[in-house]
Amino acid sequence: MTKLNVLIATFVLLLAACSESPQVVTSESDSIEVPIDDTVILITNAYVIDGTGNVLEQGSVLIENGLISAVGNDLVAPLNAYIIDAAGRTVMPGFIEGHRHIIQGNPDEWMANRADANMQEFLGAGFTTVLSAIDAPQILELRRMINQGEMVGPRILSGTFIPVNVLPPGESTSDPARTDVSRPPGRPTEPAGKIPDETIIELVQNAAAAGYDMVKTVVTVTPNGPEVDTLTLMVNTAHEYGLKAIVHAVSVTDTLEAIKARPDHLVHTPHIMQLTEEQAQTIVDADIPMMSTLSTFVPFYDENNQPIFRDGLPYGWHTLSSAGQGPVNARLLWNAGITYGFGTDTSFHPRRTLKAELKALNLTFSEQDIIKIMTTGTAKAVGLESEIGTLEAGKVADVVILDGNPLEDLYDLLNVDLVIRGGEIVIDKL
Ligand SMILES: [Zn+2]
Repeated sequence: MTKLNVLIATFVLLLAACSESPQVVTSESDSIEVPIDDTVILITNAYVIDGTGNVLEQGSVLIENGLISAVGNDLVAPLNAYIIDAAGRTVMPGFIEGHRHIIQGNPDEWMANRADANMQEFLGAGFTTVLSAIDAPQILELRRMINQGEMVGPRILSGTFIPVNVLPPGESTSDPARTDVSRPPGRPTEPAGKIPDETIIELVQNAAAAGYDMVKTVVTVTPNGPEVDTLTLMVNTAHEYGLKAIVHAVSVTDTLEAIKARPDHLVHTPHIMQLTEEQAQTIVDADIPMMSTLSTFVPFYDENNQPIFRDGLPYGWHTLSSAGQGPVNARLLWNAGITYGFGTDTSFHPRRTLKAELKALNLTFSEQDIIKIMTTGTAKAVGLESEIGTLEAGKVADVVILDGNPLEDLYDLLNVDLVIRGGEIVIDKL
């Protein structure tokens, strides 16, 4: 890209002579080289999906100093602007991944050998913000490196795990999605043990001191168990320390219990048991956003056509009903008015998992709904709706340019040509 705009300036000199003489017009052309200011970007000739529900057929987006300064039809480029001609492509807010596990394998090796490339994969798939819903503690170093410009990557939000009960030996909260203590008939029949309040408070304090953005827990309620009380303490303590508190609940039963503690969002759509419309309304009335993660229980397939779970381990066919119950529950909640966010809860390549989540969402949601979920819905669910999620003046300039129009073909969301993160071009395939 050139760093100079060559401006063909035409100076028109209008000479008005005395009133009896005809007007004499002379003109002279000259070129002036204006240095491009990297912090001023004008995207023109774009199909703008701004995330608020508005679409501009021939729109422009002006970015200055990391922020969106204007969106409109007739924006005039500042002389020093770097101009991107979108040539009719779609411009929309950068994608937000609302539930992801980023670090894989040995965390130190991953940081040394994979982190940089993986961050490029997220950006290349259009993700300018990624919520780490539990990773190895190295996630904090990754976030620091990105924030301080030592690595190029999406904005990272990081959560750490705090338990809300002590399960009997043999039961594990490590991956209830797979081991499925939430799924009848596997549900606990005995009350779980209580974790002392001081321990919960200390764990939240430690998370705050370490610099996490949020604490996360897994709730499978046990008969007369301590889960809701302990979760409530966790949520309230987190808020005292300026952290968010997010909750994994995957069955209808557990979701209805978890909302009583008023967490900041639910990291999954309930996909075990079918909601009634009344239950959906109860969840929505609690006014707690929820992430989709619908692709979690739709099998991926490996190169040998073997069904695998979202992390590469064998898929359990006993969980297959969730592939349908998740999308159906999601639609019931949507009809009742839920704030719904996009999250995959996966560990595969970001573009591949974006495609899988879109496929699952598209079972019960339109293209227009999915765009709403991916923009304002997810921004609100991660608590950053005042900064990201729409293309509006004053918002952070997180922008993607897509080949095609995802309102006509949903999978055009996979055709990312250019990504701007905080006003900086980080991916450019144009
Ligand atoms: Zn997860």
